[in-house]
Amino acid sequence: MCFKDFIVKILTKGFYDPTWRCNGCGKEMFGDRFFCEECEKHLPYNDKIVCEHCGRAIKSPSAYCSTCKEILLSVDKARSAFNYDKPISGLIKKAKYDNGRYILDYFATKLANLYFAEFASSEVVCCVPMSKKRLKKRGYNQSELLAKKVAEIINVPFSDCVAKNKETARQAKLKRSKRLKNLTDSFQIKDKNAVRGKNILLIDDVTTTGATAEAVAVKLKKAGALRVHMITVASVPSKDGY
Ligand SMILES: [Zn+2]
Ligand SMILES: [Zn+2]
Repeated sequence: MCFKDFIVKILTKGFYDPTWRCNGCGKEMFGDRFFCEECEKHLPYNDKIVCEHCGRAIKSPSAYCSTCKEILLSVDKARSAFNYDKPISGLIKKAKYDNGRYILDYFATKLANLYFAEFASSEVVCCVPMSKKRLKKRGYNQSELLAKKVAEIINVPFSDCVAKNKETARQAKLKRSKRLKNLTDSFQIKDKNAVRGKNILLIDDVTTTGATAEAVAVKLKKAGALRVHMITVASVPSKDGY
């Protein structure tokens, strides 16, 4: 970075611009990098064998993994940029709670690359919504910010077409099918015209069980969506490897 750029950066972003430190190890850096070279090399990239369907890391190639074969059926195909591991897992949490919106900019470029490599045929970008109550408490929905940034980069319109009407309380005691039904009932498609006959790209930060995405996708399909594809920043690798 030349001296002039340095001054401009101080004037526009201030002294505490987080991009001046590596977001992995905290080492001071110059330039507009997000990670230092060493951290960049060792990120938990999800670029080896993945479940063809939900995109989580597995041991040997398979059309469905043990986690997604019973529930993730309305999402046609999902992919994630990283495995849910350090330092990505910490950054996802930071983006959620610590006003770390600059992190979402970094994630958005990764998701856009993934979109062009794996899908590149979506007509509408949606996100997993938050209930109004949760949104008020949190201040922003990181999934929505991320989806809007990705939509801008890939030049596909974002639609705020899904709403979450109620919080789904802890339902550990309920059967899986009942849990999924409760979850599905908590979402509503606000604008059916925006999704009818369209290929939808759903964006979220993490894929854990995949149940939330499935619930949203069930509603999107009911509203007439053709295909629902999903990209997330990170997914939890299959526990048993299959
Ligand atoms: Zn580093
Ligand atoms: Zn899977």
